[in-house]
Parts: sequence; structure tokens; C-alpha cells
Amino acid sequence: MKQLVFATANKHKIEEVQSLLTEGFALLSIRDAGITEEIPETADTLEGNALQKAEYVYNKLQKACFADDTGLEIDALNGAPGVYTARYAGEDKDPQANMNLVLKQLQGQSNRRARFRTIIAYIDNNGEKHIFEGCVKGFIAEKKSGNEGFGYDPIFIPEGYEKTFAEIALSEKNKISHRGRALQKFLEFLAKQD
Ligand code: IMP
Repeated sequence: MKQLVFATANKHKIEEVQSLLTEGFALLSIRDAGITEEIPETADTLEGNALQKAEYVYNKLQKACFADDTGLEIDALNGAPGVYTARYAGEDKDPQANMNLVLKQLQGQSNRRARFRTIIAYIDNNGEKHIFEGCVKGFIAEKKSGNEGFGYDPIFIPEGYEKTFAEIALSEKNKISHRGRALQKFLEFLAKQD
């Protein structure tokens, strides 16, 4: 059984990845691996943050590990909130306040193009770094709709749809989402290794 540490304490993310991993991999959260502190996340790009988290864990444990970081990038806001997506409206990371701020900033704006981007940084047992990216293009809605999902889901309409992510079943969202796509690439890579 190969051990793989996911540099997150988020149980929802661990379960999501565990359900997609093939047999032969044991997924550990940082808590399972004995890391109790918060992992620093102070870079100014998604890639920088994902690598920073993975490197922090690798340096502590010397075990294969990976980390992810996601941002919402809105064209009319020059790519904001980007790396500040979680705490756009303040350090309490309130999704309602974040969405309200985005809707306010886009009031009267006809260019509502946006995308979610996820970076996964993986450091293998030899200390080699690998980066995987997943992206979903879409639009910011005029108002919130739907109750599924989390974060900015009620205001993000994926390209080709007329519904927000919060109105789409999770199984369908996973097939087209930024995180789903990045994970798919990462898992295909793992499956091809030895
Ligand atoms: P994280 O890097 O996965 O923690 O994501 C950073 C922030 O992006 C989260 O706090 C959410 O606000 C937002 N986010 C990430 N993924 C999604 C998603 O699938 N739907 C809506 N918001 C998301």
C-alpha cells in the first residue's frame, strides 16, 4: 500500500479524492500524518501556494504528498479575486460576503466572463515536483441561485449551461469542474507511475 499525504485538513476534500483513488493508495490527511499546525499559505499565485503547502509537508515527513489551491478569476476584475478567492471580502472567509462583493463590483458590467482554476502540486517520494492544472470557464450570474455546493457556486454559471454550479448535482459538477479536471490529470499520472 503506497502512502500519499494530502496537505489539507479538509475532510470533504480527503473523502472526494479517496473515492477517486485506485486501490493500492492509502490517503492521509495532515492530521492523520501528525501535523497539527496550520500550513502556511502566503504566496501570491495559486501555483506558489500549492507548492508551498506541498513542500512544507514533504520537508516535515519526507513522504509523497500533494496540495491544491483554487482561485476564481474574473476578466472584468483583471483576474481578481484570484489567489484571494477564499478571503476576498475579509479574513472570516464568508462565502455570502464574498459573493455580495463580486456582484457589487460587477453591477452594470456586461463582461461577466470568469473561470475557476485549480492547481495541484505533487512531490513524489524522490522529492520531484509535478504540477497539474484544471480549469472551467464560465460567467458570473446577475444574482445568486441554487443551494448545492459551496463557496461561489450560486453565482458561477459554467460555459454551455444555463444553471449555476449550485443548481447542478455534485456528480455532474465533478465531471466538469476545475478541481475535478485537475484531479483527473493527477490521478492519471499516478496510475501510469510504475
Ligand atoms: P481552496 O483553495 O480549495 O481552499 O479554494 C479557495 C476558495 O475558492 C474557497 O474558499 C472557495 O471560496 C472557492 N472555491 C474553490 N472551489 C470552489 C468551487 O468548486 N465552487 C465555488 N467556490 C469554490
